[in-house]
Amino acid sequence: MTKLLLNKIQQLSERLKASQTVMRERLSTINKQFVLIVFLLVLLCTLTLPFVLTPVNKEEPEIEISLEDEIEIIPDDQSSSVQEETAVIEVPDLTGPEQVHEDLGDEPVEAQQELSFDELEKRALLGELKATSRTMVKGDSLLSLLSEQNVPANERMEIVEALELVLDLKSLRPGLTFLFIHDLDGRLMGLSVRQKENESLAVMREKDDSWVTFSQTGKVETKQEHFQVVIERTFSGSAQKAGVPSNVINQITGAFDGEFDFSTDIKPGDTIDVILEGKVTQGGLEIGTKQAVYIGLKTSKMNIHKYAYNGTFYDARGRTSEKVIMKRPLKARPRLSSPYGKRRHPVLQYEIFHKGVDLAVPKNTPVVAAADGTVEIIGRKGSYGKYIRLGHKGGYQTAYAHLNGYRQDLKVGSKVKRGEVIAYVGSTGRSTGPHLHFEVIKNGNVVNPFGNNKISSTQLTGFELEKFQSWAESIHPDFKLHLAGKIPPVQPVKPF
Ligand SMILES: [Zn+2]
Repeated sequence: MTKLLLNKIQQLSERLKASQTVMRERLSTINKQFVLIVFLLVLLCTLTLPFVLTPVNKEEPEIEISLEDEIEIIPDDQSSSVQEETAVIEVPDLTGPEQVHEDLGDEPVEAQQELSFDELEKRALLGELKATSRTMVKGDSLLSLLSEQNVPANERMEIVEALELVLDLKSLRPGLTFLFIHDLDGRLMGLSVRQKENESLAVMREKDDSWVTFSQTGKVETKQEHFQVVIERTFSGSAQKAGVPSNVINQITGAFDGEFDFSTDIKPGDTIDVILEGKVTQGGLEIGTKQAVYIGLKTSKMNIHKYAYNGTFYDARGRTSEKVIMKRPLKARPRLSSPYGKRRHPVLQYEIFHKGVDLAVPKNTPVVAAADGTVEIIGRKGSYGKYIRLGHKGGYQTAYAHLNGYRQDLKVGSKVKRGEVIAYVGSTGRSTGPHLHFEVIKNGNVVNPFGNNKISSTQLTGFELEKFQSWAESIHPDFKLHLAGKIPPVQPVKPF
């Protein structure tokens, strides 16, 4: 038993020894491996350390270099920024130095220029620049307008080229208003033209005398003014004194043409009330010509109210006044050299029928339209020489013969207003001296030009009448009274 036990113990201790040696061996290999790993690690570190450290070490000299560079570059930088600033100075007006960088897009630059044109308008309001507005009429072109504004030929072409980039020049038409801004030496600094209600195109002179084009948004506002003319002696003198523009004085006499004669019928104390309408840009500049939208005439005998709606004068009920066809459609007082009707020929001694009246005036006296109408014939017509025939409402026509020349822009289809110049007196065709042969034709038959030829009034109806009346009410606070005919009684002027 004991032997067996001893054996077992011996076996066990031997196993233990054996396992111990295995353990030792294992441990030693682990140790060796550990040492190896540590060695390798150390080796790795020593190998990589220079690489890890060198970049850090290298960065320092780089920073030093760049610092040195910057220090060296600073003077260069300064000089370049100085150059930029001088470049900025060459760019006109409000462009600050910060804005002139290549990375800025076109839009901010445009926005700057938009401000610049407003600036031009503001400077014009302050009197530092001079603004002129001009509305295109038939026969005008952009080039002719520029020439009229004393723009040198080379600049005219440059401006046209600049505008062509943004505008179809064929779209320029009568009625468009240009705003020209000059410096005090008369040099054109910029111009703008408005084609749409809330957008205008502008061309502006750069500091290097090149031209830049851009569009501006902003509405033109309508402004109304009220004038009262109290007659002292003459109508035109009193109207000028009241500040009524000369074109409006003509508009007033034209509105009453054939109805009231301002040169003979007006008396001291009579009054004319005028409401004018004008257009003002956002910059505050007045553009275009002012037009009368209301005229009220008060004399001891009458009280007339006229509203100008779409270019035609109506009373409060929407009626135009009867228009007498002018008997002597000339800008000078003529001598009647031959009347209308049968006459014996002074030389041939037989009776002929004179279809019109002969009005003797000096050569080139302006001939005016005897009534509102449309050109039907313009050109040579046998013994009549140079000839114009106009067509009017109510079956009327008027004819003008022996002319020396026609108004330049007139052609078949042109609309003319009563009193508007259409031609010039001459002696063309079968004529013995300068005179106007004037005919009035009614429904195809000649009638006496000195007879009572009236074009009857027209009346607005329906929706058009409603539109007119609501507009008129917005123009004059007393419109309802004018409509009802309840006009305060006129105090007759007492003799003493
Ligand atoms: Zn004649």
